Amino acid sequence: MIGNMKRTTIIVAVFLSLSFSCSKNESSSDNNGSGTASITALACGSGSFSATATANVAYTATATIPYSGGNGAAYTAGASITSTGITGLTATLQAGSLTTGTGNLSFSVSGTPSAAGTANFAISFGGQSCSLSLTVNTAGGPALPPVYNKIYGATSITFDGTFVTIKCNALPDHKSVYYPTSNPLYQPFSGTTFGGGTFMRNPNTIATQNITLRIPVNPAMAATHSPTPMGVIGVSLNGVPFFNQYAAGGSPLSNEINSFDQYWGHPQMTGMYHYHVEPLFLTTVIATKSSLMGYLLDGFPVYGPQEADGSAPTGLDVYHGHTHATADYPAGIYHYHFTTAAPYLNGNGFYGTPGTVTQ
Ligand SMILES: [Zn+2]
Ligand SMILES: [Zn+2]
Repeated sequence: MIGNMKRTTIIVAVFLSLSFSCSKNESSSDNNGSGTASITALACGSGSFSATATANVAYTATATIPYSGGNGAAYTAGASITSTGITGLTATLQAGSLTTGTGNLSFSVSGTPSAAGTANFAISFGGQSCSLSLTVNTAGGPALPPVYNKIYGATSITFDGTFVTIKCNALPDHKSVYYPTSNPLYQPFSGTTFGGGTFMRNPNTIATQNITLRIPVNPAMAATHSPTPMGVIGVSLNGVPFFNQYAAGGSPLSNEINSFDQYWGHPQMTGMYHYHVEPLFLTTVIATKSSLMGYLLDGFPVYGPQEADGSAPTGLDVYHGHTHATADYPAGIYHYHFTTAAPYLNGNGFYGTPGTVTQ
């Protein structure tokens, strides 16, 4: 009888100590809040705002930024982040819990933007950081469709109701062996590049450009399809121009491909950095293989090498596009796709009527 009582006491004591240590762990995780939250990628380039902004008009919206590699931890509300470029706005992380894997962070954005242009927010969360951009429209002017806010690397974006004017400096926001070694974004590169070839550096170095693209926001199929020019044929989300599938003189790219750097771009003679093929930084770090990558001069969007379900695009026409609904255009739109095989981005010319570019 006495022996049984002793055993019961011991069992109860063990149970109490186990449950106590368990609840202690839970409360310490709650208290840490965002301190324990971690993610592996944050996609400002795929971020969106619930409302369009106008200069000198009070603004309230929710910004949504996709992440991947969430660890399931809870996080507390963040400190307010002040906008740069166009000032007067703040973005504040709302408290929440990460999913395990992919999900979205929500920020409340408010204030009164000081002028028309681009407001940038330096976002940092769970070990990752990126720059979120909001286009502020001119008061009384037409509102820019919010999808153009995804072009986060533009130095300015304005809209006249028919054409969107995008200015960029063509400086990639990622590491490259083609930056001057004094630049923090310089990184050595060797080994295998796009297509499996061995990297061979070209003699050029990245330099700041001054590019202005004027592209239609309501693109339409052209009666006659004009060939793409040499040089800039479009712009990617990070402000780096797209070039076509030809090297100088209209010869195939084959000799140039081995000079593509760690993110599959390279500079030409004046130091203008550009992509002929899938922009690897956008498809693997900023966004995904099926995301919007940018626009060609005819106003039609460019997508990565996959569709939303992960499949390869099918039925691409001679211009290297096809029509169906996308995340950005639920009603459906003609769009180009990157492919690993030639012509990589564009086929026999523009599907629509191109706007203009100065470079
Ligand atoms: Zn090139
Ligand atoms: Zn498609």
